[in-house]
Amino acid sequence: MVAVTRMSQLFLRTLRDDPADAEVPSHRLLVRAGYIRRAAPGIYTWLPLGKRVVDNVAQVVREEMDAIGGQEVLFPALLPRDYYEKSGRWTEYGDGVFRLVDRKGAEYMLGPTHEELFTTLVKGEYASYRDFPVTLYQIQTKYRDEARPRAGLLRGREFVMKDSYSFDLDDDGLQTSYDAHRVAYQRIFERLGLDYRIAFAVSGAMGGSASEEFLAPAANGEDTFVQCTNCDYTANTEAVVIATPPKQDPSTQPEQQVLDTPDTPTIETLVARLNSIESLAKPDGGAFTGAHTLKNVVLKTRQPGHDWELLVVGVPGDREVDLKRIAGQLEPTEVAQADATDFAKHPELVRGYIGPQRLAELDVRYVVDPVVVPGSAWVTGANEEGKHAAFVVRGRDFEPAGELGAVEIRDGDRCARCGGTLEIARGIEIGHIFQLGRKYADAFELDAQGPDGEPIRITMGSYGVGVSRAVAAIAEQSGDDAGLCWPRSIAPYDVHLVPVGKAKPGEESDQLRASEQLARELVDAGHRVLLDDRNASAGEKFADADLLGMPTIVVIGKGLVDGNVEVKDRRTGERRTVPLADLVADLSR
Ligand code: ATP
Ligand code: MG
Repeated sequence: MVAVTRMSQLFLRTLRDDPADAEVPSHRLLVRAGYIRRAAPGIYTWLPLGKRVVDNVAQVVREEMDAIGGQEVLFPALLPRDYYEKSGRWTEYGDGVFRLVDRKGAEYMLGPTHEELFTTLVKGEYASYRDFPVTLYQIQTKYRDEARPRAGLLRGREFVMKDSYSFDLDDDGLQTSYDAHRVAYQRIFERLGLDYRIAFAVSGAMGGSASEEFLAPAANGEDTFVQCTNCDYTANTEAVVIATPPKQDPSTQPEQQVLDTPDTPTIETLVARLNSIESLAKPDGGAFTGAHTLKNVVLKTRQPGHDWELLVVGVPGDREVDLKRIAGQLEPTEVAQADATDFAKHPELVRGYIGPQRLAELDVRYVVDPVVVPGSAWVTGANEEGKHAAFVVRGRDFEPAGELGAVEIRDGDRCARCGGTLEIARGIEIGHIFQLGRKYADAFELDAQGPDGEPIRITMGSYGVGVSRAVAAIAEQSGDDAGLCWPRSIAPYDVHLVPVGKAKPGEESDQLRASEQLARELVDAGHRVLLDDRNASAGEKFADADLLGMPTIVVIGKGLVDGNVEVKDRRTGERRTVPLADLVADLSR
């Protein structure tokens, strides 16, 4: 039998003041309203109300995963080294995971994600092509030693994730599984009442395959994404493709020209110098700007388990290089700015005057942002102190080893699809769907025996929902100054009853007595009911009701003498007077 929850008994202490360490509204509200408590940096305890919410979110996720044929399993969080050794991730993870050693000296990690385990499980159980496809999922606690745990549940070091994996015989099958997950995720986030966008994401080092993120727009989100104001193109800034100028024919460009440019340490000083050189043909616009120059930024990269290597990236001089964007694309390879020690090791790189003309010969890897199109001509360093060169042409005077989206995206950049204006926004990544392909199937030799007896290498998809992060994202999007404001689908309770009225000493007030009766009737009609039976002031009760955020608040107060109660919609703030006798029917509609 479902019981009424009485606030006099509920393990709950609300706080009037914001916790000192809380940077974002969701964190402040969840702590103040007594949903969570911090146990350690990035590690939280769920209190009764919070536990109900996270369980409700998990249940929505579970129902939608089941609806697409997913089967729920549960892996351990404590994982032996071997699995991750095989995939190379024992090393790749570096400081990003928690590692342990048992009494016999065997090494483990606390699972940050479970591709290795799922792949091994399926390999152990399934053998024939007839067994596939299959989709397995779990809702489990993950551990990552995040560099910057922040914002409460948004970036925890221990957090709840739903992760699922699809196993298919061929690419079409993988696409079908991926599409099914995409639809399931749309349903999940709609049911959770989240405003969200689906953005193209980078598919990491494996490249090529489809990868999309579900982002909840929020001012405090850590992800930056780009939306076209004209078409529906949406992409994470790491993955965004912006419109590039048309390619040019290198043979139509003037000869390269070396220029004396002493004392031009900045783009501004260089541009001023260029515009003062009479013998130099001026560009179409009439004068040189930073956009005509090619800036070559010296970075370094390190593949897991290897040494740092230099990487020089060419971008137009009027644009910044976005290291985070580059890092997102190169993962798991690390990237950093080169420092004085790196330059000391490479005296051939003349700081301030680096040009791509000699980099290949110096065996330094050079890539350009795609806006540096083939055939385009640039003013860039001449690899000599005090000298630059003009009309240095891609495809004639230098050939980059590749392209890398490196420029910092700006509001007003153009959409590669439609030419429309791009706009930058911030969001919280609440889900990620990703076609892994055969990376793990290869590492673990996951094959099915085909109809002809030949082995078929399985192809996989990997799909995550941040269950605990979604709790915070919902709080972030729906909360207001007064407190939390849950959508009914995941609220701890549907109805919060607030009796306010004086009682004779030693007796229950009429309002409390009526509320007890009402609570039982509501529970019988299938509502989840929280009753504020505390001996507290009306002001305190109202403030707590707003703070706790149940979707419907019923105030049983003065109107009771006329047989009326007041119903408040927590989200809209709208108040209605409803006859007590009609309330159950009214709320059950
Ligand atoms: P992020 O870029 O935010 O670190 P991720 O790319 O590492 O996320 P995945 O490995 O794809 O995330 O994990 C799947 C989902 O788990 C994410 O979409 C996110 O919602 C959630 N998640 C990831 N890291 C955390 C964390 N530290 N705290 C809470 N939720 C997380
Ligand atoms: Mg991460």
